Amino acid sequence: MTAERGDGPHVRQMLGAYVLDALEEDETASVARHLQRCGACAAAYVEVVDAVSLLAMLSAEDLLE
Ligand SMILES: [Zn+2]
Repeated sequence: MTAERGDGPHVRQMLGAYVLDALEEDETASVARHLQRCGACAAAYVEVVDAVSLLAMLSAEDLLE
């Protein structure tokens, strides 16, 4: 675990809950702030969004069967 000085802890472990809008309001705000400053977490966020939308598509197809 590494945290860049002055940039707060990385938020990768919270990204799943962040994408699903399952965080507390202040946690959501701090994740959003971190994503604006941290390219690594922003890239991870894009991957999580892709994975979640893929899962959403898959479960939608499952429901249609
Ligand atoms: Zn980060």
